[in-house]
Amino acid sequence: MPVAVLIPAAGSGSRFGGDIPKQFRTLGGKPILQHVVERFLAHERVGRIIVAVADILVDEARQTDRVRFVAGGATRQQSVTNALAAVADEDLVAVHDAVRPFFSYGTLDALLEAAAEHGAAFPGVPVTDTIHLVRDERIVETPQRSLLIAAQTPQCFRTELLREVLARAAGDDATDEAGLAARMGYDVRVVPGDAVNFKITRPEDLERAERLLTQSSE
Ligand code: C5P
Repeated sequence: MPVAVLIPAAGSGSRFGGDIPKQFRTLGGKPILQHVVERFLAHERVGRIIVAVADILVDEARQTDRVRFVAGGATRQQSVTNALAAVADEDLVAVHDAVRPFFSYGTLDALLEAAAEHGAAFPGVPVTDTIHLVRDERIVETPQRSLLIAAQTPQCFRTELLREVLARAAGDDATDEAGLAARMGYDVRVVPGDAVNFKITRPEDLERAERLLTQSSE
């Protein structure tokens, strides 16, 4: 079963600071997004990769048979929806953050297997910090830490399931599709993620990524 990959990369990256959105910052001499695209391209099951970028970049992007660029939306969820609209006949889709260059094929394979069987799967890691729900500078609730899982990507779905979920959630602004699917009653499975698959969010994350890249090429 071939897989389509959807990469929302239309964000402005405000938490990172600077003029260039973090997905276009260079890591080991090339944009982070390029690392992500190349890693997917080298996977045997991946067919097409659809990248949602800011409108002004669509015309400049080099479209190829396997890598398509489409215009993103105002929210991450809208960018994923726009990318999904370009999927033709792949039965499975993987949604992946443009700023997670270190996902492993082992995890992707496990996710695709779980998504084919159950409909939806995401990589998760247990949290080590206690997480409080805080409103107006006061703790409102403290969920039991042993039940908390931090969601990573790639998040994998049967294509038809994700179409249905995003159509029903149109106009929402969810930060991940796994949560949306679960909210609608779908069976969403967690597969063990790993700490190396971190999201490059702040400048110190980019330094960590450079160190990892250097180590892996030694
Ligand atoms: O802001 P956050 O780190 O959660 O963004 C996750 C991903 O969603 C990033 O790759 C970002 O470029 C993308 N995004 C998008 N369209 C938006 C906002 C974010 O494609 N409007």
